[in-house]
Formats: sequence, C-alpha cells, structure tokens
Amino acid sequence: MNLEQFIKCKIPVVEIFTSISGEGISAGEVLTFVRVAGCNLRCSYCDTTYSYDESANENEFLTGEEIVKRLVEIGAVKLLCTGGEPLETKKAKRYLPLYLAREGFDVRIETNGSCPVYSKEEIATFTDKEVFPLHYVLDVKCPGSLMHEYNIFEENFSKLRLGDEIKFVVACQEDIDYALAVIDKYKFIFSTNEVIINFSPVFKSIETSDIVTMLVEKNSYFMTEGLSVRLSLQIHKVIWPPEMRGV
Ligand code: SF4
Repeated sequence: MNLEQFIKCKIPVVEIFTSISGEGISAGEVLTFVRVAGCNLRCSYCDTTYSYDESANENEFLTGEEIVKRLVEIGAVKLLCTGGEPLETKKAKRYLPLYLAREGFDVRIETNGSCPVYSKEEIATFTDKEVFPLHYVLDVKCPGSLMHEYNIFEENFSKLRLGDEIKFVVACQEDIDYALAVIDKYKFIFSTNEVIINFSPVFKSIETSDIVTMLVEKNSYFMTEGLSVRLSLQIHKVIWPPEMRGV
C-alpha cells in the first residue's frame, strides 16, 4: 500500500490518550498512545483483549489525516503506536505508524514479533527522508504465551537499530530459559545493532526477584557479549488498578 492508497482508508482506533509509558526504555516518559484494533495472536496473558475486534461499535474509524488532527489538538509529540497489533500485514493500519512518523511525530511501535517490521521499500513509499523518527519495541513471544511458534527472528532482528528494543515477557523459568537461548543465538545481531533487551514479568505470574537473580548471574556474560539487558516492569499496573484502561 502506498501513501495515496493509505490516506483514503479508515483505521479502526480503540483509543487515543496521553499518559506515561509503562515499560521499556521509554518507561516513565509522557507519550500519547494510539491503540488500533485487531491482533493476529491470542497470548495467554493478554491484557488488551478489548482491542481484538476490528469492527467493534466502540471503535472509531478514522483516516490518517483525522488521527493527525486529533493528535495535534491534544498536543501530542511522542507517540506509542500499539494494539492489538499495529503491524498486521495486508491491513491499512500497518501503515499508520509510518504515516504518523512522516507527519513529524516521534513514533515508537509496540509489535508482537510475528509481523514483519517495515522493509526499506515500504518506508520509501511513504517518505524519502533519511533520518526517520520511528523505533520498535519488538516482542519475542515465549512458550508461556502459547504463541512462540509465530515469532519472526532474524528477519526482524536484523532490521533493528540503536534506539530499538526487544521484549521478552516471561511467566516462568521455562520462558527465561527460552529467552536466554534466543539471546545466545542472535547475540551478534543484538550487540552489533545496539538493541536494548528487556525482560518483563507477567503480572503476578513470576517472582520479579527471580528475573533479577538471573540478570545478576548472567551479567558478566551479557557484558562480554556487548549486550544491553535489563528488567522492565509494567509501572502503570503499580500506579493504577491493573485492569484500568486509558492510563
Ligand atoms: S500480541 Fe499483544 S494484543 Fe495480541 S494477544 Fe498478544 S498480548 Fe494481546
């Protein structure tokens, strides 16, 4: 889909709101969330099931231009494009983050790791700018999600750059072991591309201290391999009730 085709499309939008980023390297920063509807996965621990239905009556169906107008009205600068899954292929919503970056917003995309991140060709159909304010928070699904068979590995990892991050949401020791195996296999790409690696506990499923113990034990290995690995907590679930929306 090119720019001309995109601007005619209506995107199913679940919510647009400004709050703090809850996790990852942007944790604590004020961002405007743009949550689109629909997801190709069904993770066991999903906390945004309300975003699954693309045709839900509660959704707003907005063009890219209408979304930009809304964002300008609320004074948004830094965006977190999330879902659902914002990068599902063969859907107009896939190009919304690209369009918003083109319009001058500083965009981070939270993506579930089962959809390809943008190719150079896709980016070129939207902009000829060389420096582009667009970064990824790329999930790598662990076995506890029941969705790990859908991970795209090298093809996505190799497109990440400084300022991008990957996230392992872990629910148990098996998930930690899986994440460590993925890190070991692709460590060269992560260190070369200076990608931040986050371990995020599934809320109330695993002792956060177990992740800290692992990070301490593995620290010299991470340092030797040039890997930047850290704990990421969902701080919005500490500040507000875990099920609260729009925060
Ligand atoms: S990818 Fe995200 S939105 Fe989709 S089911 Fe998993 S946790 Fe939920």
